[in-house]
Amino acid sequence: MVSTGPEETAASELEPLLTAQQIAVRVAEMGVRISADYEPEPVLLVGVLKGAAIFLADLARSLHLEASYDFLAASSYGQGTRSSGVVRLIKDLSEDISSRHVIVVEDILDTGLTLNYLCRLLRERHPKSLRTAVLLDKPSRRQVPFKADYVGFTIPDEFVVGYGLDFQERYRNLPGVYRLGGSIAKV
Ligand code: 5GP
Repeated sequence: MVSTGPEETAASELEPLLTAQQIAVRVAEMGVRISADYEPEPVLLVGVLKGAAIFLADLARSLHLEASYDFLAASSYGQGTRSSGVVRLIKDLSEDISSRHVIVVEDILDTGLTLNYLCRLLRERHPKSLRTAVLLDKPSRRQVPFKADYVGFTIPDEFVVGYGLDFQERYRNLPGVYRLGGSIAKV
């Protein structure tokens, strides 16, 4: 269990799933793999806000490539832990992606609705190539077929927080990934 501040309650128990060290090792491996795949071409990392910000920061620094990055934001979640099923673009890119090697960087692949929607949208802008990198994958939750090109860890169907992932904007700054326990996880 992790103490998350003075407001902590019994319902907000966090069970460790991945340590900061495990994540660092895996992200470094992903960086080596991606670098080998694209070398010597430059890439544009497109991070999906807000959850992917921390993963993108670490992944970008693990690449041995010329890499730039941009962000967009999409939303399919309300206040609870289940997707509403409707994806909306909340913030668009500031860069033109045509003729560039784009890698969409996402914190977690769950139902697949968000990445499916974003990849369709980005493909219409004619990137030179389009791939996806996710830190976490919950394949058992898929509602649309979607396979990420680079996956950090495959995890079971549990709501997780930390390393960028939130529950109602909390826990994003935790260096590891945790299962959110107690009644809160069933909201
Ligand atoms: P999808 O569209 O694949 O269902 O979901 C992608 C988005 O759902 C992620 O970017 C993330 O914001 C949210 N999400 C899915 N599963 C989890 C989870 O276990 N924890 C958190 N914090 N967010 C999740």
